[in-house]
Amino acid sequence: MKKKVIIIGGGIAGLSAGIYSVMNGFDTEILEMHSVAGGQCTAWERKKYRFDYCLHWLVGTSKGAFHEIWKETNVINNETEIINHEVHSQIFDKDRNKFIIYTNIDRWEKYLLEMAPEDSKAIRRMCNDMRKSGLLEPFALPPELRNPIDYIRIIPAMLPILILVKKYGRLTCAAYFDKLDFKSEKIKSALYGIYGERNFSALAFIFMLAWFNQKNAGYIKGGSFPLAQRMVEKFERLGGKISYKKRVEKISVENNITKGVILNDGTQILSDYVISTADGYTTIYKMLEGKYISKKIDFAYKNWELFTPLVQVSFGINKLVEYASPITINISKGLKIGRTQLEYGYSIMNYSYDTTMAPEGKTAIVMRYESPWKLWENLEGEEYKNEKFQIESDATGFLELEYPGITKHIEVIDVATPKTDVRYTGVKDGAYEGFMPSKENTMKSLDMQLPKLRNFLMAGQWLFPGGGLPPSAQTGKWSVQLICKKEKQKFISYI
Ligand SMILES: Cc1cc2nc3c(=O)[nH]c(=O)nc-3n(C[C@H](O)[C@H](O)[C@H](O)COP(=O)(O)OP(=O)(O)OC[C@H]3O[C@@H](n4cnc5c(N)ncnc54)[C@H](O)[C@@H]3O)c2cc1C
Repeated sequence: MKKKVIIIGGGIAGLSAGIYSVMNGFDTEILEMHSVAGGQCTAWERKKYRFDYCLHWLVGTSKGAFHEIWKETNVINNETEIINHEVHSQIFDKDRNKFIIYTNIDRWEKYLLEMAPEDSKAIRRMCNDMRKSGLLEPFALPPELRNPIDYIRIIPAMLPILILVKKYGRLTCAAYFDKLDFKSEKIKSALYGIYGERNFSALAFIFMLAWFNQKNAGYIKGGSFPLAQRMVEKFERLGGKISYKKRVEKISVENNITKGVILNDGTQILSDYVISTADGYTTIYKMLEGKYISKKIDFAYKNWELFTPLVQVSFGINKLVEYASPITINISKGLKIGRTQLEYGYSIMNYSYDTTMAPEGKTAIVMRYESPWKLWENLEGEEYKNEKFQIESDATGFLELEYPGITKHIEVIDVATPKTDVRYTGVKDGAYEGFMPSKENTMKSLDMQLPKLRNFLMAGQWLFPGGGLPPSAQTGKWSVQLICKKEKQKFISYI
């Protein structure tokens, strides 16, 4: 008899866990509450436009431990087309001054030096920090399966990074920029405008640009939905079962051993192992009733800041709209959309570089802004509907500012709110990537196993502040490696 593994949630972590679980011979079932898989990694169609909710960059598109996972899980195969943008983003302030972030550090450095020769020391230092960070390599094995030699082996290669971690590990972006002591108002306005005033880790900023520089954080043509579907296809081809519209309410436990799950209609499904990739808070405090927590876990869920949820306004434009940058950010202060005062402006993604996103000769454009959960949690009925109408109208005004004359070409507008995200994925308070990577939790992670609870594992974005597709898929793989260890069988994986 094969041992049965139940996976709660068919997002990227759940699909990854599922693929590795069937690869290793377990009878595997994914229970997904929505009618499609993918979780946050999703998109939706309106009048033949596809509006993407997630993918801009995928760490591991060219090499490293994440790259192996993407190949093994069919996210990257011989047919996938990877696009490496030259420009990461363009940023406009209230006076429409433009500031560009290039993905190539040498090019960005040259651009910054031309803009602000007086800041040459700070610019070179920041760019060198990014170059050094390119050496960062994720571990292939979960912490529980690493031995001291694994750590010793990486020390020589990682030494420059360890020094960076020591120097900047507890700094926010603002503190980092202060330390660099930029003089140029243009540089300060752009960098502080996007990252400066929030508790966002300096290392997260440095590492992100390092990965782009290495061309190891590309965009995959087709975006989020086909990406998740390729994983579903592999999972099912290997013999896995995915059951949709199944919402898990409780995890059954007897004598501290996990026995399976109970669905919201009362159905009990038995299993030898349960891997939860659903929202972390819901798993620990609701499905397991808070009975299995450590001080570390409790502290994290009570104190670590969450991502502020997003409103996404998607536009179908009935003509081709040229793009200068995949992301345009307006950091003007004092803007308002609907009832949200925009603390960090808004961003606009023009998807014309991906021809699968709109019918020929047309363009899908997505606008996003942060909107605190407290504005949404009690908004219902007519009030909610009216807010969406107001958002459509205000957002169209800002789109017109970025692309004068565009309004008459809009043929579809779609508004997705933090409530939409919570409804479809169950994510706590719309925190779409879990815990914000901040100075308090940089380089920290939460354990995949809960104290005293056997045959249960957690995987997914809630284990690593900053979330993202790579740690989600990686912890999916790790969870199966831990099960194999428990079963005393060799873990296998293949493309
Ligand atoms: C706007 C946006 C942009 C992003 N951009 C990027 C990017 O460019 N690159 C990147 O790497 N990452 C990006 N991310 C982050 C990335 O999408 C997430 O970190 C990742 O998809 C999380 O995967 P997960 O499987 O851990 O969790 P989720 O995607 O949240 O999956 C959890 C799944 O569990 C299901 N579920 C929940 N509760 C239950 C239940 N009780 N019973 C059954 N099923 C349940 C949900 O429906 C869902 O399918 C972005 C996210 C967003 C929203």
